[in-house]
Amino acid sequence: ERALAEATSDPAARVEALRREIEHHSYLYYACDAPEISDGAFDSLMRELRELEAVHPELVDPASPTQRVGGYVGEQFAPVRHARRMYSLDNAMDLGELDAWLERVVEAFGRMVPVVCELKIDGSSIALTYEGGRLVRAATRGDGTTGEDVTANMRTVKDVPLRLRAEALGTLVDASAPVELRGEVYMPKSSFEALNAAAEANGKQAFANPRNAAAGSLRQKDPSITSSRDLSTFLYAVADERALAVEGQWELLQWLRKAGFHVNPDVELCETREAVHAFCERVVQRRDHLPYEIDGVVVKVNSFAQQAAMGYTARAPRWAIAFKFPPEEKTTLLRDITVQV
Ligand code: NAD
Repeated sequence: ERALAEATSDPAARVEALRREIEHHSYLYYACDAPEISDGAFDSLMRELRELEAVHPELVDPASPTQRVGGYVGEQFAPVRHARRMYSLDNAMDLGELDAWLERVVEAFGRMVPVVCELKIDGSSIALTYEGGRLVRAATRGDGTTGEDVTANMRTVKDVPLRLRAEALGTLVDASAPVELRGEVYMPKSSFEALNAAAEANGKQAFANPRNAAAGSLRQKDPSITSSRDLSTFLYAVADERALAVEGQWELLQWLRKAGFHVNPDVELCETREAVHAFCERVVQRRDHLPYEIDGVVVKVNSFAQQAAMGYTARAPRWAIAFKFPPEEKTTLLRDITVQV
């Protein structure tokens, strides 16, 4: 109530307080891999800020957390400038918001076009560059423009191919040019629990959730520590689709599988709104039975040409949406907050 009164009487002060609070928690989350508040609490702060900026466009600022990809580039790693930016995703918090996005797709093309539904893996973004078929670099998303060089660490992740399979290499447009493939590195739920149990037994701080555990394990100075952690990957993107002779997301997933990557099997090419809803509903039912955490479903316009036609905002593609599940409150989190001014 106090926050509401303040937002009405002095929106600029409220916006500033929200930005400061969000920056603080983003730092704890992305730089320290140790959040103090739940994702649900963080998302409410972002949502309130976004709503205030929408009502008061004069308060919009390019430095606002709403205008950029949340992330951090630590000093212990060499910076890597991404050949093409790494984006975040816009969220749909319920089926109504998902339908509003599907409506925008229909408006863009005058009809519903095929979309790919994928699981939203709750891990950490990774970009893997191959040259002449060999893994030469691995980078985190960082702030979207610049990431951290975690090559030595990613080399220890056993399901990451150090060389692309020959069948896939032959289908690259230019086999000698670098190709950057992207996906998620994650820690299975059981490994996360075992890691935290061991940390507690040794009097060390536990990770708040599997996503922070994956990000923290990846961002170790000593690759042998990363190697001792049970990390896996799911790949789902290419930085520049012109490197591959594929027309869209669905074909890309088949190519990635052929190249030797782990690709999540729960994917569907959907032609109708009803099929998208059915996919989301099925995933909600199965969520707790999966061996890894997911926090939603990502729906992507399939055709790369149609993706290009829809384009990007400053922080996310317009051609994709994350249908988010209600956050599961994490037992290890310390506190939920309301913003203090
Ligand atoms: P996000 O994680 O919600 O969505 C974008 C990311 O989803 C992409 O970068 C990609 O890595 C990932 N992803 C997983 N599966 C994918 C798939 N199949 N296709 C495409 N992308 C896929 O966005 P974000 O900007 O990385 O982080 C925001 C999240 O972090 C929110 O959930 C927020 O609550 C949380 N957060 C929490 C705190 C806190 O203090 N608790 C602080 C900052 C951020």
